Amino acid sequence: MPEFCDVAVPVPLDMAFTYRVPADAALVVGGRVLVPFRQQRVTGIVVELHDRKPAVATKNILSVLDSSPVLDDLLLRLGRWIADYYLAPIGEVFRTMLPLSAEFKRSIGYRLADAGQMALHLAGTSGSSARSRRTAEEQAAEFRVLDYLAARVDEEEEPGVLRHGEPHVSPGLQDVGASTGGRTLVREETLRAATGVSKPVLDGMVRKKWLARQDVSAAQDATRTVRVAVLKSAEGKLNGNQRTLVDTLAASAGRLLLDTLRSLEIPRSTLGTLVRRGLVEIVEVPASFAITRTKPRSTPFEFELNPAQKSALARLRENVEARKFSGMLLHGVTGSGKTAVYLAGMRAVLEAGRSAILLVPEIGLTPAVAADLHQIFGDEVAILHSALSDKERAEQWHRIKSGEARMVVGTRSAVFAPVADLALIIVDEEQDSSYKQEETPRYHARDVAVLRAKMANATVVLGSATPSLESYYNAKKNKYALVELPDRVEQRPLPEVEIIDMRQEFQETGHEQVISRKLAAEIKDRLERKEQVMVLLNRRGYSPVVLCRTCGKKLECKNCAIALTHHKREQKMVCHYCGFIAPVPKVCVHCGSEYVYFLGTGSEKLEELLHGMFSQARIARLDRDTVRGHEDFERTLNALNEGELDLLVGTQMIAKGHDIHGVTLVGVVGADAALGMPDFRAAERTFQLLTQVAGRAGRGQTPGKVLLQTYFQDHYAVQYAAHHDFIGFYEKELQFRSWMHYPPYSALANVLVRSDKLDDALQWSGTLGKWFDSARHEGVRVLGPAAAPITRLKRDYRYHFVLKSPSREKLNTTLRAMLAYAAHEKIPRTQVIVDVDALWLM
Ligand SMILES: [Zn+2]
Ligand SMILES: [Zn+2]
Repeated sequence: MPEFCDVAVPVPLDMAFTYRVPADAALVVGGRVLVPFRQQRVTGIVVELHDRKPAVATKNILSVLDSSPVLDDLLLRLGRWIADYYLAPIGEVFRTMLPLSAEFKRSIGYRLADAGQMALHLAGTSGSSARSRRTAEEQAAEFRVLDYLAARVDEEEEPGVLRHGEPHVSPGLQDVGASTGGRTLVREETLRAATGVSKPVLDGMVRKKWLARQDVSAAQDATRTVRVAVLKSAEGKLNGNQRTLVDTLAASAGRLLLDTLRSLEIPRSTLGTLVRRGLVEIVEVPASFAITRTKPRSTPFEFELNPAQKSALARLRENVEARKFSGMLLHGVTGSGKTAVYLAGMRAVLEAGRSAILLVPEIGLTPAVAADLHQIFGDEVAILHSALSDKERAEQWHRIKSGEARMVVGTRSAVFAPVADLALIIVDEEQDSSYKQEETPRYHARDVAVLRAKMANATVVLGSATPSLESYYNAKKNKYALVELPDRVEQRPLPEVEIIDMRQEFQETGHEQVISRKLAAEIKDRLERKEQVMVLLNRRGYSPVVLCRTCGKKLECKNCAIALTHHKREQKMVCHYCGFIAPVPKVCVHCGSEYVYFLGTGSEKLEELLHGMFSQARIARLDRDTVRGHEDFERTLNALNEGELDLLVGTQMIAKGHDIHGVTLVGVVGADAALGMPDFRAAERTFQLLTQVAGRAGRGQTPGKVLLQTYFQDHYAVQYAAHHDFIGFYEKELQFRSWMHYPPYSALANVLVRSDKLDDALQWSGTLGKWFDSARHEGVRVLGPAAAPITRLKRDYRYHFVLKSPSREKLNTTLRAMLAYAAHEKIPRTQVIVDVDALWLM
């Protein structure tokens, strides 16, 4: 074993750190180790073993957590690529790639072994014989450990579990690992804290075989169960915390995972009290049941493909079988059956004994989709959705790593799933912004998917009805093969789109309308015909602005330069960026004037307006205020699907991917406000949203219609969306990008300098601005420093630079040099955010 190892630890520093390897340690590259780092113990990944003695003194690693790599060669390479490309600290990249944070905290555990049980038994009867050779103190320590472990036999494994309806929170159990064979595995930190023994004492007990030492992760029980809180009654007097818990449960159909409830940051005793009062019951269900407990679709998944789908599938299978890298852009209009092609492709991969990953946008992974996947792939599918707890995520990771699950379906981070023999990665709705992580490392899962496929000689398929400019451009440049699904299934026509000019509506009616006369008439008509309607307004809340008519000031968030939104039902003012809440003002907070006006319309107000206009209609709303989890989303869509709703109002959530056959009219009340934003992707986003929402109409027997209200009726994004003309939009937008040197013609990065002290933010951005001016950056344009469009966010003042270059390499070199200079100037690394291929410049 080499003498030293380099370890990547999750800290915001762009380097690995060298540690000394103890003589008897068995390390592997790609495995996790526990190391001391600045007074703390942290888990890192071994990236290299070597004999190069560093100039500075080194510390020993504390313990080895894995005997085999958790990141194989390919994933290590992928991580290094991400660190380099996105200028992200390598340790933080690896932490993102491994959903094992639950284990990071837990590491090694101990359980009572037979000999230890025996020793304890003998001590209880006749006493030990070897007493003389050890100090009484050491022996006492050993017996404290044995007693502690023996007392935990058959105990529950969950931290702070509720047993027999009573809260049972014993401090010693907080960190206890899984229970196996009646003897509990207790993690080292807990055991040492509870008994006060030193590591050498535990080592000695392991040598005597009194204790068994084990990775806590390896001991996790495959048939694990999860605890679910069930609301039995909401009667009686409740205090604030109790009310929050009960309301949260009620909003989730009365059932929620205990882990989810605990994330509310409400004292544990609150739940205990509710359980004692019989208002809430805790039940145990199999973990798999918790994920898929909603019923599957009534119609089983259909694998009958039309000729266009068949030819796309054949192309895909050919690519997979070639075992060489290939990229494919599957451009299919809304309703053309892309999902059937994906699933048939994955099934072929499974039959060949290889692995596939399907990435889906955040909102796409509903329980019904999960149920479909279970139906098609059985136990060989692992589903990674955002509602999983850390522990569940780790468990799915182990299933994938062991080869038990070879089909992986998940959101962004599933691109790192540790599958072996990867044959196929599919990125559904590849243009979706949820693939971009908006914190360090700021990677784009679609681009990482392409690179991973390259490294693995696999096939990557990017699918969309409205591909991103970048992907379509790449396909046109033959980087990917372009495969089109030009028609809807069963030759259903695309809906007719009519544009309503809201400026004209204003002139003719004399006042600002939310719902135009035409849209109102058409909704009435559909409701009379017992058909369904969707209305999109991409802004939640009741009124987005509160304005004082006396002093002219808006009510802004305390932490952000953002107007607070009025939420009427909840009677509060909310910041949609940081969550800050304020009471609804009766008088102006600035000048005390009574003339405060609530302006504009959000989805909550739209719902109220529609209730007023169509009092007989059954109306529901889908937005982030009514949807707390995938189940709420699913429940509302099911109700619509089964004809229990007439009208669905919502934000962009209603535009995404689902297939409801009864909807024949889609009204767009506000989707073009984004066109006024200072962001070069605004037109593309608007075009995508309009196309997506228009695609919800007419997916059944009756043809659909879309009414698009707009104040920008001449804008090309609106016009091309109305004509279902992706190519037209693409060419026009490409021209604009070319003139302005924006992607795909340039690589782009946003550098944000932030601080909660205005002086620091100004000074640091000034310092970097001078450096950008003075140093030569051939082929890189630097704009800034300028105040960011959102000048203050979450207490931080924000200044930014936008860098553009036709050469990615030159851009990367400049950014690297800038970071080095920032470090030299003692600007904290966490206050300079580098966002390569930024989606938002706000
Ligand atoms: Zn005022
Ligand atoms: Zn805020």
